[in-house]
Amino acid sequence: MKYETVIGLEIHAQLLTKTKLFCRCSTQFGLQPNSQTCPVCLGLPGSLPVINREAVRMAIKLALALQAQINLKSIFSRKNYFYPDLPKGYQITQYKLPVAEGGELLIESEGQARVIHLERLHLEEDAGKSLHEGFPDSVEKTYLDFNRCGVPLIEIVTRPEMRTAGEAVEFVQNLRTLLQYLEICDGNMEEGSLRCDANLSIRPEGSDQPGVKTEVKNINSFRFLARALDYEAKRQMELLERGERIIKETRGWDSASGRTIAQRSKEEAHDYRYFPEPDLPPLVVSEGWIKEIAAGLPELPPAKMERFIREYGLAADEARILVSSRALADYFEALACAAGTPRQAANWIKREVLQFLKENNLEITDFPLQPASLAELIKLVEAREITMTIAKEQIFPEMIKTGKEPRTIIEEKGLKPIAEDNTLLAIINQVIEENPQPVQQYLGGKTQVLGFLLGQVMKATRGQANPEKARLLLQAALDRLAKK
Ligand code: ZN
Ligand code: MN
Repeated sequence: MKYETVIGLEIHAQLLTKTKLFCRCSTQFGLQPNSQTCPVCLGLPGSLPVINREAVRMAIKLALALQAQINLKSIFSRKNYFYPDLPKGYQITQYKLPVAEGGELLIESEGQARVIHLERLHLEEDAGKSLHEGFPDSVEKTYLDFNRCGVPLIEIVTRPEMRTAGEAVEFVQNLRTLLQYLEICDGNMEEGSLRCDANLSIRPEGSDQPGVKTEVKNINSFRFLARALDYEAKRQMELLERGERIIKETRGWDSASGRTIAQRSKEEAHDYRYFPEPDLPPLVVSEGWIKEIAAGLPELPPAKMERFIREYGLAADEARILVSSRALADYFEALACAAGTPRQAANWIKREVLQFLKENNLEITDFPLQPASLAELIKLVEAREITMTIAKEQIFPEMIKTGKEPRTIIEEKGLKPIAEDNTLLAIINQVIEENPQPVQQYLGGKTQVLGFLLGQVMKATRGQANPEKARLLLQAALDRLAKK
């Protein structure tokens, strides 16, 4: 039997506010455990929460960008459960009336654009952190850090519309890019500021009956998301093939073994005894404020991509790469403008810059060359003062290493192009003279030897010759020999 997979996502994004959702404690990551707490976020009796306006503003920004329907009035609720990292014994979240409902995000699947619809967006507070490792007595004790208690989260719930692990990864990647464009979440999955839970079920192909779904938690990278979902789909199929039942449960992703592991049977909403939070009034936002926030939205990835194609004549694939982060898109525009050639700016970023970043595991914000410096190098090539080979192989790495400007490097290293055909011709003749055997092979019809001879020429010129010109002159010289 053929099966199809149905995947839905619940994503928690930590909002980049300075203070927590209901108190003034700092949200800064990595501080001394339990140093950022107060009676409100510790849930001490008699303390009262006050909503953080900035967190609401960020939630509205996201709702607008996702074209979700914003509820002018929404309600906070208590979700009751007992867990050591939750000192209040309940989480303040939104249940019946969330801050926004609906909305959509585009993904690309097998070259086709697909719309993934959203169920809802809601605001809620984070819990603390249980520290199971890293202490001398960790074998017998778990330590608790309450600094994260009350940190604002926006939860994004999709409809179960994704069909493959690849689509789920694409969704999270696109959402992450969007959050970063909006400057409301840093998207750091390893530090937990973007967390993803995925639910998955399978059903016979073409069936509209939902299968029994399992939820996979604790996924902290795109790679693990893909692997966890592939594993889970396969596990469920094998169960059905053996005639066994799938149990509705929560499973954890274990990256060490590459498997999902049963954690607990899946709770139902009514298990949490949700009720409206009596300490907070309904959250009311005005139309005027929403308009003001909408007016301040930055240009978003799809619009930017479309503009890059139109304004700079880029191909869709290149534009997609360049808008993959706001910082990269900004770098490209600054470079294109300073160098005066968007084509070359795009080429340099796609090849040299991105390759350097990848090799050194860096982000574009860490890239050592300012757009203006790299633009100087591009302009020197365009003006034919140096060859592309010299620019890429000698000057670019030296600029990164020393921070010197390209002109300084050219002068210090004596890197000038060999423009004079006579100089180049002399070198070509010398190479022909010194390599009688390859030359004979070439003349005997083994034309691929040309590449070797050209390599010798470029080596002798220390890369200073224009490779295209060198190839033409070399070929001409060899053809003259052939006629003799
Ligand atoms: Zn606090
Ligand atoms: Mn949640």
